[in-house]
Amino acid sequence: MTERDLLSQLADTQATAHARQQATGGQGLTVDALPTVYRGTQFRSALEASWAATLDSYGIAWLYEPQLVTLPSGARYLPDFHLPALGTWIEVKGDGVPRVEKAFEFGGMLACSCPRLACTCRWPGGELVLVGHPPRQGAPGVDERYAHWPVRALRRLAWRTHHMRWTSTRGRAAWFTRCPDCDAHGWFDAARCRACRGPLAGAHGHQPGADEVSFVRVTGPAVDDEGAAA
Ligand SMILES: [Zn+2]
Ligand SMILES: [Zn+2]
Repeated sequence: MTERDLLSQLADTQATAHARQQATGGQGLTVDALPTVYRGTQFRSALEASWAATLDSYGIAWLYEPQLVTLPSGARYLPDFHLPALGTWIEVKGDGVPRVEKAFEFGGMLACSCPRLACTCRWPGGELVLVGHPPRQGAPGVDERYAHWPVRALRRLAWRTHHMRWTSTRGRAAWFTRCPDCDAHGWFDAARCRACRGPLAGAHGHQPGADEVSFVRVTGPAVDDEGAAA
């Protein structure tokens, strides 16, 4: 880690602590619901910041809350992430948080009406709206690849492996993959890369929560790996 990284991390840490204090007044809200600063952007929650970090880890460019949208119902809606290179949007929702209706309405609004195999739109099927969930926490203790690890090390590792989970708003599965043609990571639900429209021949599609799709968790200070305030 360079000195510059350290300094920016420190700045993030301080900003996060400040935001947390303002948000809670010292009361114990759950960690994921606290405003969190990541790379100079203040997110409404650690979960949103973690999604940004996860997208970064896959080299996926994102814009945070770039545009207020008016839905067909007339409701106003501010989607969390726009991924301009993938024609994809992500609405981040914590478990037990309802109100994904707007994301689904937005998904229906952006979907094209071409016959599925004959779609010639710039974005296969139209722009894609996903709901981003909290990650699945890995349990390497039950994964045979880790069978030879000491129990203590496994227990520690279990808190450190997280796997990305999402739901498509289109009523069919969206898979995560890396395109063999353009190397871009992203989601697809038709046999075309959303970045380059390549055929994804030989690409391996991963489902939500799969071991192969890792999730990067961002937490502020005074928070241990278990996600509880220390
Ligand atoms: Zn189309
Ligand atoms: Zn591609």
